[in-house]
Amino acid sequence: MFESLSDRLGNVFEKLRGKGALEEKDVNEALREVRVALLEADVALPVAKDFIAKVKERAIGAEVLRSVTPGQQVVKIVHDALVDMLGGEGETSLSFATTPPAAIMMVGLQGSGKTTSTAKIALRLQKRKKKKVLMASLDTRRPAAMEQLQILGEQAEVKTLPIIAGQSPRDIANRAMEAGKLGGFDVVMLDTAGRLSIDEQLMTEIADINKATNPIETLLVVDALTGQDAVQTAEKFKQRVPVTGVVMTRIDGDARGGAALSMRAVTGAPIKFVGVGEKIDALDTFEPERMAGRILG
Ligand code: GDP
Repeated sequence: MFESLSDRLGNVFEKLRGKGALEEKDVNEALREVRVALLEADVALPVAKDFIAKVKERAIGAEVLRSVTPGQQVVKIVHDALVDMLGGEGETSLSFATTPPAAIMMVGLQGSGKTTSTAKIALRLQKRKKKKVLMASLDTRRPAAMEQLQILGEQAEVKTLPIIAGQSPRDIANRAMEAGKLGGFDVVMLDTAGRLSIDEQLMTEIADINKATNPIETLLVVDALTGQDAVQTAEKFKQRVPVTGVVMTRIDGDARGGAALSMRAVTGAPIKFVGVGEKIDALDTFEPERMAGRILG
């Protein structure tokens, strides 16, 4: 991913690396290129502008270190600013600070990868964190979605709440929390219904269930391939539910990376996980350092 951005920045910094001394005009020229590269990567314009302003401020104020060339120093400043833009450090871990079971509510548009991500996270918590996890689908409008979660649960060997036809999403959520308590589960993952676009009914339903279950984490799943739309989707969900983190899927097919770069800056919501493929274990925690390194190449 990020190939175009990485290549582009690579060329810019290649020019700078060759220089012994760096003049303001070189910095300005480099930053113009960085700005174009960010916009081409579908980063929101105000975010790109803000980013450039920050880098410029730091570059001009910085003392030139003896050990590096001025060009290397600008690269470092851009790198650090990228890390900040991507969310800094130490925010990717999930919180379990509640009386078990901790509810994790998954929200997002249909097709964003919500059900797959629910199972991926459940598997990860069970395997790596040794948590006992129960999953429940609240998608009463699409029985196929409920069955899909059940099948994923069988594959991942994660328990799913038995399906009872005719229950409302709210009833299922209550039953899941009850079963979680009685069964000694650490975590109950609630996979809510998605829609093709945001509608009032979806938002009201999700907000109601959120209030009723009081999840410790509300994770919004967005598709990286939808670029700035993913960021707008996040803003809309954030207005109605307390989103604690973002799961960005299909990072494996995202060559531009604009959604990842804008998400935190626009919505304030940290990306906690990235989906890197269709397989049940194709999930990574989001590491701003690693991502910035990858962008700069
Ligand atoms: P939902 O409607 O939001 O629940 O979406 P699904 O979980 O059913 O996912 C829709 C499709 O996207 C499925 O075919 C998934 O295998 C696929 N998918 C989900 N996450 C990823 C990912 O990170 N990378 C890729 N390549 N495919 C994914």
